[in-house]
Amino acid sequence: MEQAKRDNEEHTRKRREGRLHGELSESLIQRLRNCNPPQLQNAMRRCRELLKAHRRPPLKSDCRNRFQGSVRVSVAVGNKRYQYETRSCGKDCGKCPNHGPYLYVYTRDGALFPAKSLGRAPFKAPVPRKVKTAIQAFHKQELNLQAPPAKGQRDTTTLLR
Ligand SMILES: [Zn+2]
Repeated sequence: MEQAKRDNEEHTRKRREGRLHGELSESLIQRLRNCNPPQLQNAMRRCRELLKAHRRPPLKSDCRNRFQGSVRVSVAVGNKRYQYETRSCGKDCGKCPNHGPYLYVYTRDGALFPAKSLGRAPFKAPVPRKVKTAIQAFHKQELNLQAPPAKGQRDTTTLLR
């Protein structure tokens, strides 16, 4: 039983690593081997379409997830989408202070659109100017709508410069 569990974990790990290096599963290789030439042509056409999709940025509707609160800024750059979002912690979140907004970057990976967190400003990784500008505009608008920040409160607009 323990051994079976370990074998299974090992298999999953290998499959994930293989995916990073472009390895195909045995079952997919077998299925391609079963195809006739028109089917193989069709498969190649589909592959080209899917490769093209990886060069485009994810749509805003692709970047949804369970913990997402509100999306304050959404900007596409190259094949990535940057979103400035609030997030729920999943625990009775009505009582929490606001979580975020934090910056996330989404990229297509097969049928999935995993998000990488870049945190709050100053961000964990370099961010394109177009994204910084959009976030600055968002904060400027927020400041105009609210009372001036309390003494000692972090001014995100300054950190973004
Ligand atoms: Zn919460």
